[in-house]
Amino acid sequence: MQDGPGQGTKPVCLVAEGLAGLAHPVEEPALLVGQGRILALGAAALKAGAKRLALPGLWLAPAPLDAHVHLHLGGTVEDNLERSLAAGLAAVRDLGHRPALATPHTRPGQVPPWVVTSGPGLGCQGPGSSWLAQALAGPEALRQAVWRRALDQCGVVKLFASGLLDFDNPGQVLHPLTFSPAELAAAVRAADEAGLPVAAHASGAQAVRACLEAGVGSIEHGFFLERPLIREMAALRRSWVPTCAAVKAHAQDPEGRHSLEERQGLWSIVQGQMRALHLAEGLGVDLVLGSDAGSYGLEHGAALFLEMACWLEAGLRPATVFTAATSRAARLLGLAGELGSLAEGARAWLLGVPGDPQVEPMLLAKPRWRNF
Ligand SMILES: [Zn+2]
Repeated sequence: MQDGPGQGTKPVCLVAEGLAGLAHPVEEPALLVGQGRILALGAAALKAGAKRLALPGLWLAPAPLDAHVHLHLGGTVEDNLERSLAAGLAAVRDLGHRPALATPHTRPGQVPPWVVTSGPGLGCQGPGSSWLAQALAGPEALRQAVWRRALDQCGVVKLFASGLLDFDNPGQVLHPLTFSPAELAAAVRAADEAGLPVAAHASGAQAVRACLEAGVGSIEHGFFLERPLIREMAALRRSWVPTCAAVKAHAQDPEGRHSLEERQGLWSIVQGQMRALHLAEGLGVDLVLGSDAGSYGLEHGAALFLEMACWLEAGLRPATVFTAATSRAARLLGLAGELGSLAEGARAWLLGVPGDPQVEPMLLAKPRWRNF
C-alpha cells in the first residue's frame, strides 16, 4: 500500500478501472484530485490537462465510515484512532463513554478519521443505568444534559433507552425501557433545538417503539424486532444500526467468558438479528453499518468488516452493504457531500480495490492503494 497523490496544490487525474459510490454517473472512470478534494469527475477530469496516474485493475471508492464505536474502549483514544486510520476508515461516530473521561475532540480537520462524538451517553439512574452514560432522572435533567453536550461541541446525543441483552435468557432484555416517554421527548426536543441528532441504544421492541415515538433518528442495536415495528421504522425514515458483530463476538467468546449454554443463546440472537436485518432491507429501512468497536472482541477499524461480513451472511445485497458503509453512514453522521461518495467537492479519501466493491464490499477491507 502506498500514499496517494492529490494532497498538494497540483491536481492529479486518477484513471482507474471503475468508480464506486458515485453521486452521479460519469462517462469515464477518472477523478481529478487536488488539495485533498475531488475537483472533477469523468470526462471533465480527463480534459483538465493534469498529470495522469493510471491505476490499472483498480476500482476507486470512498473510504468507509463506522457509525457506532466506543473510542475509549479497547485501548486509548489515540491508538483506536490510529487503528481506524490503518483500516482505511474516513470517520467514526463515537457513542458513549464513562462520564469521568475526557470527550474526544470532534475532528473535522485535514486528517482522517473524523470523529463525531456524543461524549458520555445519557442514561437513567438506578437499575438499567449504563456505565457509559451520565445517570439522569426527569425531563429537565435530560434537557440540561443535552445542552451541556451541545456546549461541549458534541455532534450527536446518545441515549441509553434500554438495558443490556439478558445473556441467560435469549430474547429478553434487562431493563427493557429506562426512560419515561416524557424524558425521551424532552431529550429529543432539546436535541432538535440544539441542532443535534439523537442516537439511542435500544434493545428490544419496547425501547425501539418508545424511541420511534419520541422522534429518535437512529436506533442502535434494536434486537428482537418483528415486521410491524421494522415497517414503522421504514415509514418514519429512521436509521437502524444493528451491530450484529457485537453479539457474534460474545457468541464466539475468544476469552471464554460465557458458558456453552449462554453461547448457544447468543448464537440464536445473532441469527434472529440477521433475519430481522434481511427483512429490514426488503422493507426499505435506512440501514447503516456500525460495529460497536471497542466492545468485547471488536478491534477498532477491523470490526467494521466483521459487521460487513455478518450482513453479507444475512443475505443482504452487496450494494446495500456498500452504501450502508459509505453514503448512508456519511448522511447519518452529518457528513454527506464531504465523505462517503465520489462527488465533486468531497474529500479525496479514496481506496483502490481490485474489483467493484458495490458487488464485493469486502474488497474494502484490503485496499491495494489509498489516497490518505
Ligand atoms: Zn455501543
